[in-house]
Amino acid sequence: MDLFKPMDSTPENAGQENKELEVSEHVKCLILGSGPAGYTAAIYAARANLKPVMYTGMQLGGQLTTTTEVDNFPGYPEGVDGPAMMEDLKKQAERFGTEVRFGLATRVEFSGKVKRVEIDEKTLIEADTVILATGATAKYLGLESEEKFKGFGVSACATCDGFFYKDKVVAVVGGGDTAAEEATYLAGLCKKVYMIVRRDELRASKAMQKRVFNTENIEVLWKHQTKELIGDQVVTAVELYRNKGEAGEELVKIDIDGFFLAIGHTPNSEIFQDYLETDETGYVITVPGTSKTNVPGVFACGDLQDKVYRQAVTAAGTGCMAALDAERYLGEQ
Ligand code: FAD
Ligand code: NAP
Repeated sequence: MDLFKPMDSTPENAGQENKELEVSEHVKCLILGSGPAGYTAAIYAARANLKPVMYTGMQLGGQLTTTTEVDNFPGYPEGVDGPAMMEDLKKQAERFGTEVRFGLATRVEFSGKVKRVEIDEKTLIEADTVILATGATAKYLGLESEEKFKGFGVSACATCDGFFYKDKVVAVVGGGDTAAEEATYLAGLCKKVYMIVRRDELRASKAMQKRVFNTENIEVLWKHQTKELIGDQVVTAVELYRNKGEAGEELVKIDIDGFFLAIGHTPNSEIFQDYLETDETGYVITVPGTSKTNVPGVFACGDLQDKVYRQAVTAAGTGCMAALDAERYLGEQ
């Protein structure tokens, strides 16, 4: 059933097709996502009296709740624990009157001046402006065995699951900042950490690389790619292809207890695809220097629209831009 159909329907039949889902409220500013972008947008929107309502999505606090240490967010000279920082941002947004609600946007309708967003397939909200801050989600390799062992030796969050591998042997796939960070975190808990890197260099920042190379129990497996995970009930080993250049490929098997994915993220833009312009990888396209999308009244911020910087501080910065853009848009209406 098309839950949004009544928007285009005539007054005579209005309400008939909409029986299951009636508009529950109308808000000036609806914010989707509770990462640094969403909370910063909320702080600014609330201070501008837009009375923002935020739906947090399933990951309250966003990606930073999966890390222990944030060393590069301004204002924390000693660094800060990711979940603690996100709790601070939440409190700050609430202090100015943001209504933070747990719920997931399951569908949107952006064709009219008034935007409609379905929450958890059961609530329909109308909004004059919508700020999209739905961030990004961890990628998996797409292997059959990876799917089979999810939760039984396969994880995409070292800080969430690392504890279960205390004094054991684990592998981290990826060569970016996340992989480097997860590997060093796991090295503090585990006996040995392998980093499975497909090229002969890391993408991670020089500072993170230094930490990896200075950690004794991390071994980088350069030019290795995962073939399949092995095990009965749980992961016990991983089979890898080792690229030997002109000499071809060699199959290598290493015994591990845990396998951590850190190969990047996919923007959470799927439910907006029918209305918003995105690039080939799904990042929402915004007018350069603004948070404006191709739909007036809909603004995008944070990792959802940023494939270049993807930092907490840039997410927060664009969250601020989105709230200011929303405020100006409402002022112009
Ligand atoms: P996210 O943090 O991804 O939050 C997205 C939010 O949207 C979540 O609350 C989610 O629940 C919500 N959501 C998703 N779909 C929906 C929906 N349909 N409806 C409603 N809500 C939805 N950056 C740094 O600057 N410093 C660091 O030290 C650092 N460490 C990191 C460590 C790790 C392990 C990872 C994975 C990333 C790290 N980053 C770091 C990157 C940083 O976390 C991101 O750049 C930042 O969190 C992006 O913020 P965001 O608000 O755009 O989105
Ligand atoms: P990323 O920078 O996109 O790196 C992904 C890594 O995974 C790359 O090394 C990539 O290899 C590898 N990879 C991708 N697909 C693969 C596959 N199918 N098989 C094997 N390897 C694969 O992602 P990220 O590390 O999650 O970082 C995302 C953003 O968050 C970055 O902007 C980063 O700076 C930021 N971040 C910052 C911090 C920090 O500042 N402390 C911490 C974490 C993340 P190639 O290099 O060969 O492409």
